[in-house]
Amino acid sequence: MSECLFCKIVEKKIPVKLVQEDEHTVAFDDINPQAPVHTLVIPKRHVSAVQDVGMEDESLLAQLLLSCTKVAALKGLRESGYRLVTNTGRDAGQTVFHLHFHVMGGRPMAWPPG
Ligand code: 5GP
Ligand code: ZN
Repeated sequence: MSECLFCKIVEKKIPVKLVQEDEHTVAFDDINPQAPVHTLVIPKRHVSAVQDVGMEDESLLAQLLLSCTKVAALKGLRESGYRLVTNTGRDAGQTVFHLHFHVMGGRPMAWPPG
């Protein structure tokens, strides 16, 4: 069995508030939300971070971004707007090393981010 937390979520070994699922991606609410809407979109296949997706797998990135925009629509954020974030590595504060996009919205977002 995988030791990766998000692989376990894909395998349904850890319960989540599922938002959306398709052939290649899963979306679920963040356990520690930082905004009224804070959903994570991940590939079912284990990839550590966005920089580990090669040109040969460009369709995975397209699938993830399309899943993010669907989540934003489902959560009613199309008009108000939202932020997509993928933390990559130490300086960005990545804590789970299975690629994920944060879909965040429901309040004004500061820029630049902290
Ligand atoms: P990162 O810091 O790597 O960009 O984001 C990891 C995110 O995963 C954090 O926002 C954290 O709250 C979320 N997270 C960590 N463990 C769990 C979990 O078991 N379930 C859910 N739903 N989210 C988690
Ligand atoms: Zn994983």
